[in-house]
Amino acid sequence: MTTRLYENAVFLEHETPTGHPERADRLRSLNIALEHPNFARLERVEAKLANEDAVLLAHPEEHLFAVMRQIPEEEGEINQIEADTYASPKSLQAALTAIGGAMAAVDAVMSGEISNAFVAGRPPGHHAETSKAMGFCLFNTVAIAARHAQRKFGAERVAIVDWDVHHGNGTQDIFWNDPSVLFCSTHQMPLYPGTGAKDETGLKNNVVNAPLSANVGSEHFREAFKSRVLPALQDFSPDLILISAGFDAHHRDPLAQINLVGEDFDWATGRLMEVADRFAHNRVVSLLEGGYDLEGLAESAGLHILRLMKG
Ligand SMILES: [Zn+2]
Repeated sequence: MTTRLYENAVFLEHETPTGHPERADRLRSLNIALEHPNFARLERVEAKLANEDAVLLAHPEEHLFAVMRQIPEEEGEINQIEADTYASPKSLQAALTAIGGAMAAVDAVMSGEISNAFVAGRPPGHHAETSKAMGFCLFNTVAIAARHAQRKFGAERVAIVDWDVHHGNGTQDIFWNDPSVLFCSTHQMPLYPGTGAKDETGLKNNVVNAPLSANVGSEHFREAFKSRVLPALQDFSPDLILISAGFDAHHRDPLAQINLVGEDFDWATGRLMEVADRFAHNRVVSLLEGGYDLEGLAESAGLHILRLMKG
C-alpha cells in the first residue's frame, strides 16, 4: 500500500523572526532529503486549505478569532502572539493548510485508499491548548485530525502518540476528559512546557506520560516506549494511530538534551505500525511537530517516512 506525503509551498511562508528555531529551512532541509531515490515511491500530494470551521473541532470560536486578529497584514511584518509564538501574513493560511493536509490524510487512511501518510507542515500544533496559542503553535492540528476521524468516520478510539522531545501539553489539555482518545507522550522532563509528569493521567486514565531525564539516549527511550506506550496502546486497541512526530529528541537538536539517533525513530515507527496492523487496519497518520537541527531533522524524518513506506 501507498505512503502519501502532504506538502504545500505555503508552509515555507509562515515566517518567524531571524534566529527563531522554528523556521522554513526545516522543511527545505527535509525536502532535500526526500529527493533521494529511496523516496521515489512516495506519493506526494498538495495539502489543501481547510475551512476555518475545522479549527472548531478542537478549539472554541474565541480562539480562532483571537488568532485571526493577530495575523499581520503587511508583507514582512511579524507579530508576537505570546512568548515564542509568532505570526506573519501567511501564517493563518499555512496553519489551515497543515490542518487541511491532516484531515485529507485521515480521509485517505480511513477510507482505505492508502495505508499511512506524513504531513510535512508547519507551524506545528501540539502545544496549542483549547484556548491558547503557545510554543510556536497556533492550532492543535493533531487534535483536530483526531476529532475529524471521529466525526466523519465514526472512529471510536483514536490514539495519539507524541514523541516530540517537548510534552504535548495542548493535546493533553484538549483530551484530558475524553476517554475516546488515548494520548501517549515521551518527552524530556524538566523541559518546556513543564507538564507531562507520570501522575498526569487524564480524568479517564486516557493520558500516559513517559518523561525522560536529560542526557539519556536510545535505551531509555525504547524502554519507555516498551514499558508504557506500547502496553497502553494494546489495551486501548485504537481504530487509528496519529503521531505527533517531532524530531527534536535527536542528539544534534539544540533545544533539548535527549540523545536519540535516527534509527530510534525508525524503530518507534515500526513498533507503532505493528500496533496499527493488529488493531487499526494499518492506519497511521503522522504529523510533523518539532525538530530544529536541520541535519538531525532530515535524517530522522527521512528514516521515519522510509519505515512508513515499508508498511
Ligand atoms: Zn518539540
